[in-house]
Amino acid sequence: MLKKTKKISEYLIGQIDDKLNDIGCPICTLTEKAVNDYIDTLFYENVNDPVERRDFINGMGYCPKHFQMIENHLEEHPDLGILGANILYSDLFEILEKAVEDESVNIGNGCKLCAIEENAQKRYLEIFMDYISNPMRLEKYEKSISMVCLKHTHMIKNMKNVHFSAFLKIQREKLHRLERAMEEFIRKSDYRNAKEPVSRIEGEGWRILSKFLE
Ligand SMILES: [Zn+2]
Ligand SMILES: [Zn+2]
Repeated sequence: MLKKTKKISEYLIGQIDDKLNDIGCPICTLTEKAVNDYIDTLFYENVNDPVERRDFINGMGYCPKHFQMIENHLEEHPDLGILGANILYSDLFEILEKAVEDESVNIGNGCKLCAIEENAQKRYLEIFMDYISNPMRLEKYEKSISMVCLKHTHMIKNMKNVHFSAFLKIQREKLHRLERAMEEFIRKSDYRNAKEPVSRIEGEGWRILSKFLE
């Protein structure tokens, strides 16, 4: 049993390794993937599952963010079809009829996908902390293009048993590097410097900043 746990953790650490090459926050990206995987399974095989349908009704449907995520997912995966969404969503009409006349009916109040997301986020925060507790991996994060977002930086700060100062130092350095990269991009956009090649961080700087605040 112990051996199995260790193996899972190594697999998850490998997932973080992969995400360090991507623009954005590894914790956000992996959490979003976990929710998308759940949505995928739900519409692939579980939409008639009584538990899923009951949770959907008990949660007063899903929240706007997760309805949107499902919409995007079904658009990106047309093989899943839209019958499942029709079946699941039809159960909501009784509540919707009440909601149109009573604003205290809170649609998506107990969104199940919010709970899935929260669990995944907690798990990946812990895995990320595990990851950077190793100095070599911390250095790998430091040099990588990825950047833990502001929200998750604060969450890491509030975690128990975490040595935050080393991480904070890296976050500051990453911000400085990003600032310089964006200045460089602006400088190279001048026609007199147009021949100088633009590096990945310079070209993607605006997106890195945007994702830091998402
Ligand atoms: Zn994040
Ligand atoms: Zn939600």
